[in-house]
Amino acid sequence: KPIVLSGCQPSGQLTIGNYIGALRQWVDMQTTHDCLYMLVDLHSITVRQDPKALYEVCLDGLALYLACGIDPQKSTIFMQSHVPEHAQLGWIMNCYTQMGELNRMTQFKDKSARNVTNINAGLFTYPTLMAADILAYQADQVPVGDDQKQHLELTRDIAARFNNTHGKTFTVPEPYIPEFGARIMSLQEPTKKMSKSDDNANNFIGLLEDPKKVAKKIKRAMTDSDEKARIYFDPKEKPGVSNLLTILSSVTGSSINDLVPQYEDKMYGHLKGDVADAVVALLEPLQTRFSALRNDRAELDRIMKIGADKASERASVTLDKVYKAVGFIPKP
Ligand code: ATP
Ligand code: MG
Repeated sequence: KPIVLSGCQPSGQLTIGNYIGALRQWVDMQTTHDCLYMLVDLHSITVRQDPKALYEVCLDGLALYLACGIDPQKSTIFMQSHVPEHAQLGWIMNCYTQMGELNRMTQFKDKSARNVTNINAGLFTYPTLMAADILAYQADQVPVGDDQKQHLELTRDIAARFNNTHGKTFTVPEPYIPEFGARIMSLQEPTKKMSKSDDNANNFIGLLEDPKKVAKKIKRAMTDSDEKARIYFDPKEKPGVSNLLTILSSVTGSSINDLVPQYEDKMYGHLKGDVADAVVALLEPLQTRFSALRNDRAELDRIMKIGADKASERASVTLDKVYKAVGFIPKP
């Protein structure tokens, strides 16, 4: 089975964007792939986190993975910080990545522009740690939303360069990008992507939010003002409406082509009502499952421990190979 690795940052509550762009695909891949799914806590501190909140959000994230259908019997589920090989390989990756390459990363540009008071070196070298995450497991495929495509491209470049210099050490991973829903947009500013770390909570739909509040947020979502309030799919001209259609399509499983004709004579309010109903119908059972899991700390600990051990065992094989390739003396 092809090896797959992916993760979410515990940098805030997971959103419907994470669900549609990542978690949902992860669940499906479990039957066809050898999957490793982590919570990338090391990555999350590239933005300042409140320690107590981070601790809770990590547990929330784990319980949400499980509630969404990620199955510890089928997949390896773990916290990135529990597997030291990530940071160890990350250092090596730093030494095989050029400043100029990192300078071109749009996520760094966006995030550093948004938070000028904490442009730390970790934020800059984020992609090298991500490369380590992926390459440590010799992943064949990486499911990523559009936003992570550039980082994956860089991972491929680093892997190929290392292989060229030291002989075949890493599998060069392929992106796995879902056809639809690869990029769910912000509710109030539909030209930028929905992000869990957005300062304005009206921009995202949190998977753990009160469904009533979620419905309200959707009904207040920014729609487009053109002379006729028509409903059709055109992300350039109608970003707000197109985003709502994408969410509806992703959550209900109906294609956008099938949905659009149903709104021919309808108004934005109809569409928003339907999106709200569909999202609430997704969230309610998800949150019920979540609560049961989240309250069983012993079980969460057990899952984290098994996952970390399995992951570490695999990653250490790669790390040994890499240390040897660069010329380090194996510990006698
Ligand atoms: P942050 O704002 O902290 O970067 P995020 O919402 O972008 O949070 P990440 O943890 O960076 O979430 O990404 C986790 C996964 O979710 C990645 O695979 C990413 O591609 C995917 N993802 C993130 N945002 C979206 C989105 N708006 N639409 C679709 N997929 C998304
Ligand atoms: Mg992100």
